[in-house]
Amino acid sequence: MFQINENYQKLPGSYLFSTIAKKVSAYQAANPDKSLIRLGIGDVTQPIAPAIIEAMHKAVDEMGHAETFRGYAPDLGYDFLRKAIVENDYQAKGCGISEDEVFVSDGAKSDSANIQEIFGEKNRIAVCDPVYPVYVDSNVMAGRTGTYDAKTETWSDVIYMPCTAENNFVPEFPKETPDLIYLCLPNNPTGTTLTKDQLQEWVDYANKAGAVIIYDAAYEAYISETDVPHSIYECEGAKTCAIELRSFSKNAGFTGVRLGFTVVPKELTCGDVSLNAMWARRHGTKFNGAPYIVQRAGEAVYSEAGKAQLKEQVAYYMKNAKTIKEGLKESGYTVFGGVNAPYIWLKTPNHMSSWDFFDYLLENANVVGTPGSGFGPSGEGYFRLTAFGNYENTVKALERIRAL
Ligand SMILES: *Cc1c(COP(=O)(O)O)cnc(C)c1O
Repeated sequence: MFQINENYQKLPGSYLFSTIAKKVSAYQAANPDKSLIRLGIGDVTQPIAPAIIEAMHKAVDEMGHAETFRGYAPDLGYDFLRKAIVENDYQAKGCGISEDEVFVSDGAKSDSANIQEIFGEKNRIAVCDPVYPVYVDSNVMAGRTGTYDAKTETWSDVIYMPCTAENNFVPEFPKETPDLIYLCLPNNPTGTTLTKDQLQEWVDYANKAGAVIIYDAAYEAYISETDVPHSIYECEGAKTCAIELRSFSKNAGFTGVRLGFTVVPKELTCGDVSLNAMWARRHGTKFNGAPYIVQRAGEAVYSEAGKAQLKEQVAYYMKNAKTIKEGLKESGYTVFGGVNAPYIWLKTPNHMSSWDFFDYLLENANVVGTPGSGFGPSGEGYFRLTAFGNYENTVKALERIRAL
């Protein structure tokens, strides 16, 4: 008789987005005349930029001719894309990353979930609280997190690093020494980030502790301040302790197209074992390459026209972010984020719980956001609004919130 992976039975239900959907549809059914504005979505809304569409059309046509047809892509990605990535994202920023350290994939969600596979079962993970749930859940499935305490909403073997207004959303070095440290910067959900000096301290800490930092830089394109690093490899010594995850979802609208990459430096070793070689083996065994058409689309992200168009797209979302942030501030809210990330993280007024504020905003402003407590216990008392809506609706939502 077969057995299942019992670790899956330990996973608590993920009720956040289904509960939001239920509450929203119940409210809409009871109030059919009200028009709701959704500032809860974590998905982009702007269409793919013209330079990218053009590259995709061309690649589609190539697939229809024997001379230019492509089958399986190289395991680690096409050279043209890895070259564009290295030149634009790393060499241009002074990071000496080479093409054979870049692994093209179908996105950062799967990479962030899969990367734990190359590490030992006994490794202790450390995560920020609140957190992007994939980091913890993928380690639960692998049996690395101990037992779940429903009351505190924490796992016995996970090290939590609270990120709240009290510590300026800068995680503190934990008392217990972790083996794997997940950092998402700029951060989802809080929209905050670290300066290069602050990140350097984490790199130094990891090198000293013999830990690996899994650095999720999905929101790199939204960085506007000059002292914020675009890559962890801008920090000295990061190549011996950090793996970086990147995505084309938020900078180029590829959430439905699917493309990302992971950087595993060759200097990152455990004794004499190369993590780069391990990830190459894992990737080659379990992944059969991102589609040619999509990799050509990714290449176009780095073209002159592509860069200019995407800069505008990011600016469009960041104008929304500014609208939300300024509007909330003027209404007396305490707000964070929204400067280097498309997320605004606000403190709920009058010590309301995250869910009470969700109901309040839904019923009185007809605006939908995301309760901070859904991202971890330290998110309680906070609320997330996103800049991924359209501008007119964002302005309207803030008018409604101001009128409360
Ligand atoms: C959106 C997002 C990603 C990107 O995931 P893809 O699979 O590339 O679409 C990764 N990490 C975080 C924290 C995100 O919010």
